[in-house]
Amino acid sequence: MTDSPKTAAPKTAVVTGAARGIGLATTRQFLAMGWRVVMIDRDAAALQKAASPLSGVDPVLCDVSQPDQVAQMAAHVTATAPSVDALVNNAGVADFGPLAETDFARWRTVMDTNLDGVFLMSQALRPALCDARGAIVNIASISGLRASTLRVAYGTSKAAVKHLTLQQAAELGEFGVRANCVCPGPVATKLAMAVHTPDIIAAYHDAIPLNRYGSEDEIASVITFLCSPAASYVTGQIIAVDGGFEATGIGLP
Ligand code: NAD
Repeated sequence: MTDSPKTAAPKTAVVTGAARGIGLATTRQFLAMGWRVVMIDRDAAALQKAASPLSGVDPVLCDVSQPDQVAQMAAHVTATAPSVDALVNNAGVADFGPLAETDFARWRTVMDTNLDGVFLMSQALRPALCDARGAIVNIASISGLRASTLRVAYGTSKAAVKHLTLQQAAELGEFGVRANCVCPGPVATKLAMAVHTPDIIAAYHDAIPLNRYGSEDEIASVITFLCSPAASYVTGQIIAVDGGFEATGIGLP
């Protein structure tokens, strides 16, 4: 007589900014790996449109910059998901402007989502991630690796996310939680196309050794790899996924 094989419960990933762009591509890749995904976004219509054709997802309306909403989201997720095996802090906003033209309201809008959102989400789901010995992937940007004349708020927020990742790796390693940071190069999403002028697009093509923008899936595949058992000894890393841009030393357009 043999024991009947036990079927492991599917793993759960929480992905913020999941209604479109890199977050939606990441959601689809987790589903293809057999994971469940809690799709978080603050855009109700986009979230419903993205989630409705997918199975294995739990769409949750939540603005990651709002502590009350994040607390409610965490209560819901920990009550409904068997485990939280990965948190992908992907929700972000872009704002291109120099110090001279960026008023405090613009600065705060960028920091609220890009930095505070990562802090709040990670803190709220930390106990569940520790229970599952899970993984965190924070999405920064090549704009957090290089300074430029155009990105005082955006670039600073992404550089801070890089360091927050190192803090998380240092603090959570003893619980078996890994934390890594992905810095995408340009991807033609709604966020990027709102700020990339034709001049910036042309300059990026020239500056990137692969001479093109990346795709959402090319970023998502690195994110899902970092959450998978194949990356079980990878933590505290800042990984540029940028067609070689960072290798060249050429400035940001
Ligand atoms: P996108 O605009 O296509 O998608 C971002 C999603 O995040 C949207 O669905 C939006 O509603 C959601 N969102 C924004 N603020 C939110 C908040 N406070 N709470 C909940 N949801 C919120 O953008 P994308 O290009 O897919 O960007 C994803 C991440 O990748 C961002 O962090 C961005 O900074 C980063 N990134 C993008 C590029 C690029 O060229 N596209 C390059 C480098 C880094």
